[in-house]
Amino acid sequence: MTTRSTAPQATVYGYPRQGPNRELKKAVEGYWAGRVDADALHATAAGLRRNTWRRLTEAGVTEVPTGDFSLYDHMLDATVAVGAIPPRHRAAVDADPLAGYFAMARGTQDVAPLEMTKWFDTNYHYLVPELGPDTVFAANPAKAVAELREAVVLGHRARPVLVGPLTYLLLAKPAPGVAADFQPITLLDRLLPVYAELLAELWTAGADWVQLDEPALVQDRTPAELGAAARVYRELGALTERPKLLVASYFDRAGEALKVLAKSPVEGVGLDFTGPAAANLAELAAVGGLPGKRLIAGVVDGRNVWINDLEQSLGTLATLLGLADRVDVAPSCSLLHVPLDSDRERDLDPQISRWLAFAEQKTAEVTLLARGLREGTDTIAADLAANRADLASRAGSAVTRDPAVRARVAATTAEDGRRPQPYAERTVAQRARLRLPLLPTTTIGSFPQTTELRTARADLRAGRLDQAGYRDRMESEVREVIAYQEKAGLDVLVHGEPERNDMVQYFAEQLTGYLATRHGWVQSYGTRYVRPPVLAGDISRPAPMTVDWFRYAQELTDRPVKGMLTGPVTMLAWSFVRDDQPLGDTARQVALALRDEVTDLEAAGAAVIQVDEPALRETLPLRTADRPAYLAWATEAFRLSTSGVRADTQIHTHMCYAEFGAIMTAIDELDADVISLEAARSHMEVAHELAEAGYPREVGPGVYDIHSPRVPSTAEAADLLRAGLAAIPADRLWVNPDCGLKTRGWPETRASLDSLVAAAHLVRAELTD
Ligand code: GLN
Ligand code: ZN
Repeated sequence: MTTRSTAPQATVYGYPRQGPNRELKKAVEGYWAGRVDADALHATAAGLRRNTWRRLTEAGVTEVPTGDFSLYDHMLDATVAVGAIPPRHRAAVDADPLAGYFAMARGTQDVAPLEMTKWFDTNYHYLVPELGPDTVFAANPAKAVAELREAVVLGHRARPVLVGPLTYLLLAKPAPGVAADFQPITLLDRLLPVYAELLAELWTAGADWVQLDEPALVQDRTPAELGAAARVYRELGALTERPKLLVASYFDRAGEALKVLAKSPVEGVGLDFTGPAAANLAELAAVGGLPGKRLIAGVVDGRNVWINDLEQSLGTLATLLGLADRVDVAPSCSLLHVPLDSDRERDLDPQISRWLAFAEQKTAEVTLLARGLREGTDTIAADLAANRADLASRAGSAVTRDPAVRARVAATTAEDGRRPQPYAERTVAQRARLRLPLLPTTTIGSFPQTTELRTARADLRAGRLDQAGYRDRMESEVREVIAYQEKAGLDVLVHGEPERNDMVQYFAEQLTGYLATRHGWVQSYGTRYVRPPVLAGDISRPAPMTVDWFRYAQELTDRPVKGMLTGPVTMLAWSFVRDDQPLGDTARQVALALRDEVTDLEAAGAAVIQVDEPALRETLPLRTADRPAYLAWATEAFRLSTSGVRADTQIHTHMCYAEFGAIMTAIDELDADVISLEAARSHMEVAHELAEAGYPREVGPGVYDIHSPRVPSTAEAADLLRAGLAAIPADRLWVNPDCGLKTRGWPETRASLDSLVAAAHLVRAELTD
């Protein structure tokens, strides 16, 4: 007979923090602006936590997470909890912990913030811990203990959540001034006693279990790192005054780390069983399961927006029941990465909204599955039947199965994804057509998105401005942008993208198969929330999306204007994508829709077309073994969208990151005629990397760092350009900024582009002397 405590229960690792109406954003930003005082901010935060725990409990979750809540970021909270405050922020944190906390997150006039980077392969960004040989850790359990107490007082059984010590160190970077090859993991000896103290404090405060999040365990780890993992959990496990430990892995399969965790003296292990992580099932069986341990089975995908296949999950769970002492049901990862409640999407076709599951719905799914396990699946038969019907409606819908799209994809051949002429031939034709000077100058696409432009869009949405009026506003902006570029002396112009709210949303709104949500906000970082479009069905392009804007701009000038599109990989990466077919199939559909746009731009006279793929690198699978397959479909999709053009049409692509060692071959496989990349901050390092890899085509390594309002001087830009020339021959080198200018203001944009053009003139003169 099973006792209540060991019968399957439902739980979640974490929950969206913002509140139903983004109350947290308003309170935090109000605090920054001085409108909300610290007490009011804390009260709002406590109210949101209370509400979350109540909803989870009402849904049937018997052990709620605490401490997953954050005013800004959970990694920053971990930095505070282990006392790793960067020295430059120490005084501010000592003077006023709350103000100091936000100073670390956002910087102040005089002090730089912590760097921000992507949390694994999600679209959430965390603040990177800065560590060095001099780092002294000190436990600060205040937040973890306070939030635990808060939940306990409200009558909840609570499980505090901390970022695990291994993940904390593996995601840290050397502090400024510390040697770049410093390995934060070498600080493990110093960090473990601090975790021991945090655990002891939580134990004293009444925690039965503590969850240590270790997503770093799902990446390829060296034997030394696996050894460190074994040590961490052996030593933490050996403590006497401590709660039971649940080590949560998620985002992929645990691989080698699974053995380490199985052997360690921790009482619980969380594993992801969705997507590629489904391999955890066989691997768990292979290591003999987790005898004597609690397994948290992540069977409901915590990152997509779709309903679960409940019967399939029950099948997985049935197998898992034999592999651990106690099995609880959970989403695969924290629900932080999905919106709150799909019931609020009243504007969607009700048929389609039944396919959606956000945080609330996923919570209901895990509690239902746990009930099915506890009380027998016949007690949830009606829910299973409804789930079956919803899945069938999705599979059989004209939205997800458009015969015309499917026929077109099926008829696509490998040749469709290859330009008929090699680059050597294309470049001759393109040079004859474009007649550009040596070191041609251009920009990446967007010009400043001014308040006036945003207001015009808001007015259009609110009905204060009609379509014609909106168009007028945008066209006058295009006129100004073109006139400015001619005057500045740029060689290849852009229309400036004033009409684009966002580089993905703009296209998603025009493609059939994409949905927009009204309340589907997810945290990107801090108080920045995004509402990614939902790629729900087969993708097609009912009408041209950018051609009118291009044509309008090109008619204003004799210089070439670049057609400007977002590439298929980025269209997927910054959306919620469908889970009912391989990503590569979805990418191919998007690619074909973009291919039509490319063809139409070419027919409208575009001699240069840029297809941006800033997400190519960030969507790289966490496990190296999965990367070749990803890169194969990703590069194929890019080529499919760009290879239907004539030899004398020049294809550009753009990526805004400097680190791409891992995808060098893939960049070559895009077969773009010109690639522009971020390079200013790393002093053209990428140009050298490309040259060393034998990259054969044209390159525009950025000579102007657009991430800062600083205006580069002509001498600085010329210096970078000369550094670029040391790697790339003059006839294959372009001159451009690092990225689009949409976040910049006009005065600094003008001044910086003047420097850029002047630098190109200067270096051209040096070359022809
Ligand atoms: N064309 C886009 C722009 O200039 C590219 C943005 C990006 O790379 N993120 O804004
Ligand atoms: Zn960019």
